[in-house]
Amino acid sequence: MKNIAYYNGRVAPLDEMMVPMNDRACYFGDGVYDATCAVNHVPMAFDDHIDRIYRSAKLIDIDIPMEKDEMKRMLMSLIEQVEGDCLFVYWQVTRGVGMRSHAYSGAQSKPSIWAFVRPCSMRDPYGAYRCITMDDTRFLHCNIKTINLLPAVIANQRAEEAGCDETIFHRGDRVTECSHSNVHIIKDGVLRTAPCDNLILPGITRAHILNICAKAGIPVVEEPFTLEEMMAADEVFFSSSSALTCRVREIDGKPVGMKDEATFARIRDAYQQELRAECGLA
Ligand code: PLP
Repeated sequence: MKNIAYYNGRVAPLDEMMVPMNDRACYFGDGVYDATCAVNHVPMAFDDHIDRIYRSAKLIDIDIPMEKDEMKRMLMSLIEQVEGDCLFVYWQVTRGVGMRSHAYSGAQSKPSIWAFVRPCSMRDPYGAYRCITMDDTRFLHCNIKTINLLPAVIANQRAEEAGCDETIFHRGDRVTECSHSNVHIIKDGVLRTAPCDNLILPGITRAHILNICAKAGIPVVEEPFTLEEMMAADEVFFSSSSALTCRVREIDGKPVGMKDEATFARIRDAYQQELRAECGLA
């Protein structure tokens, strides 16, 4: 199949899947999601993504009506039915279907489980990317991977309009993360990345990068950095499950980073190698 969608046990091609209007996703964005890429039909860091959606759901009082193993089997069966070397695997859990009402102690179905799988292509890991910056006007629960994504949608649109690849958010001077990735800097051989508080999503790629640094002896500081520090860094890069590690060469039209390829390349290459091994390509 070219792509596939799942909704509460029903399976259909993605553009034919119908969902009930009263699913609380439609009115409130009342749900959480996760996503990864499957290379060679192997979803990357699968257990980490499965664990994170259960954590996100718990943080907003959603009790996922499916065990983790069953969710993995359901997603694997979708992945196996779609053709392609690289697939985008997306799934979400919403609070369920019921008459529109903000509070959720009233009548509604059990939480709804949605998923789709479609072909994708990953960014060139050897490329150098351009970003813009924007005020981070999101809420204060960015650690929850909720489907409420309006500020991220607008931010990404602004990047696209500027001919750029990603938008880097900041609260005042403090850099937080990007519209759909985490951002890191390297200065004097040290990797610096924002701490996992309520202002950023705890990225799974970020966690893998920190492990790689620990193994490679690259020092890591999990502390916030400022816009000024970012502009003066030796390297700036963003990371996510679909972008992996993307080196940044320009922010707001000004050249940045590109001064410590050796350290960046150690991280990028180790991560590429890890993923190739995981997906049976090594
Ligand atoms: N930060 C935000 C806001 C995101 O939306 C994402 C990915 O979707 C990330 C960071 C990166 O997370 P991961 O590495 O788990 O894909």
